[in-house]
Amino acid sequence: MGIKIKPCPFCGGEATLTKVTNGFMHDPVTITNTYRVGCKQCGIYTKAYESKIWQDKYGVVQIEANGAMDAIDAWNRRDGENHDD
Ligand SMILES: [Zn+2]
Repeated sequence: MGIKIKPCPFCGGEATLTKVTNGFMHDPVTITNTYRVGCKQCGIYTKAYESKIWQDKYGVVQIEANGAMDAIDAWNRRDGENHDD
């Protein structure tokens, strides 16, 4: 896939992508799972990023937001730390 999660900017520990919540909406049926990336070693993590994925009337999958990728992007930019807001 070529998607890389950078090591932790604070401790250099290994970072992993985690699904935070399972979610969906009914009309249209839309996946709204949320994801974050965090460090196994020091425990810092991004906020949760929500996916928004559904099928249009032709059955074509529409990805309005990919929470997993957004979380990885935020982590890799190193501006996605959770500030408990
Ligand atoms: Zn760390």
